Amino acid sequence: MLIVGTDPVEVERLLRSEELVCPDCGSVLARWGHARERSSRGEDGTVRHVPRRARCTTCGGTHVLLAQLWLLRRADAVSVIGAALEAKAAGAGHRPIAAALDRPASTVRGWLRRFVALAETVRVGLTRLLYALDPQASALVPRACVVADALEAIGRAAAAAVVRLSAVGPWEFAARASAGLLLAPAPGVG
Ligand SMILES: [Zn+2]
Repeated sequence: MLIVGTDPVEVERLLRSEELVCPDCGSVLARWGHARERSSRGEDGTVRHVPRRARCTTCGGTHVLLAQLWLLRRADAVSVIGAALEAKAAGAGHRPIAAALDRPASTVRGWLRRFVALAETVRVGLTRLLYALDPQASALVPRACVVADALEAIGRAAAAAVVRLSAVGPWEFAARASAGLLLAPAPGVG
């Protein structure tokens, strides 16, 4: 799987001009049909989408091209999950967060538990990325908890990426920077 931008026309252009590279071997990816339709939950309701698939011209591996709105193996948009994490960092519990986002409490509790377990890894990976994007960046100020520290690192790295790369929201940036694994057992951040 490869996390790509949200504009399908741009993704097609990148495929045509051989600018997408295989995450396994670094060779050029070519178009290879589509993945099965997915039903995901965005901020404004259910979104049905059919991700592009691409095949490596060298190693033959196939990869689903997932827009950076989504995370691997999560049905909800990264912006929705991000809003839950921000509320958690501000001290809210999973039930009020779930009610505010109109999601099941058990789902939100699952996101928060996963992120708490990964927060230190995310913080270290995104801090490394921040300084790669901006070697002059000022030091990160420690916050009240590991979740807030991790969010600070995501926000700062995303802001540095806006300056260096292109303007995307911090949560789309986090999805892409972590290769979609923001809440997964083995994050690929850093
Ligand atoms: Zn390859």
